[in-house]
Amino acid sequence: MRVSNVLSFDLEHWYSATLLRDSVTGPVAHIEKSVDIVLDLLAEHGVTATFFVVGEVARRYPELIDRIAGAGHEIGSHGDTHRPLFDLSPKQFAVELDRSTQAIRDAIGARPVGFRAPNFSVTPKTRWAIEVLEDAGYRYDSSVFPVRTPMYGVSGAPIRPYTLDPNAPFEERNGNGTLTELPLAVFHPRLKLPVAGGFYARLLPTWLLKRGIRTLNARGLPATIYFHPWEFNPAVKTSTVPAHERCISFYGIDRLQTKLDALLDAFAFTTAETVVRTSTDGGEP
Ligand SMILES: [Zn+2]
Repeated sequence: MRVSNVLSFDLEHWYSATLLRDSVTGPVAHIEKSVDIVLDLLAEHGVTATFFVVGEVARRYPELIDRIAGAGHEIGSHGDTHRPLFDLSPKQFAVELDRSTQAIRDAIGARPVGFRAPNFSVTPKTRWAIEVLEDAGYRYDSSVFPVRTPMYGVSGAPIRPYTLDPNAPFEERNGNGTLTELPLAVFHPRLKLPVAGGFYARLLPTWLLKRGIRTLNARGLPATIYFHPWEFNPAVKTSTVPAHERCISFYGIDRLQTKLDALLDAFAFTTAETVVRTSTDGGEP
């Protein structure tokens, strides 16, 4: 049985990344071109994906978001201003979430049911976020990075989709919660290499990414991987970025289209919502 994996794109400005947001001045957005590159690639492969969109982008580019949804892709929330949950109180997060939900509803005429936290900032420190998401009517979250990295992550968190218990959100209890968690892929069950996407996917060779997805799929588990549309647009490299941030920010951009092309050839991918629905129905995705 072929496992359906989750393909997701976090749609924010390229200069919203933690490493860049304080150092880039007068940036060019490149956002429409970047999205077009990705939409073309997905159309070529007949694949649908989930775009987690920042509310301020949905307000500024409603036609773009509507075009993505019109091509059959799912639109989820990526917060309103791309501030990580670490920097917000529960009340501030509720406001952020509400504003982003509204911005997406205004753009596409339907509310999002899925959420991804900027910087994967759902961790033991911000576990209050789960109740805020439940109260706001969200059905799933895809923010748990089940390995500790310098900036984020929860070591020991489950690596399969599971129901979030607000009292023990990083344990696979399938307790009282109403929210499903789709953790980001770690490509080796024991080593837990954090190679779900972004910088890691740009850094690592295609054969290793493939092996990681295959390993999860062999255990019947979907791999949830993520990219940013700007990572497929070499034009962002010409933007003014301080030298020491250039390397990590733009490494591997020229080769990422070819890499994703190879992954789309080799594996089945669909939207997060589809995988959540089929995994909670008890059926195979
Ligand atoms: Zn982001």
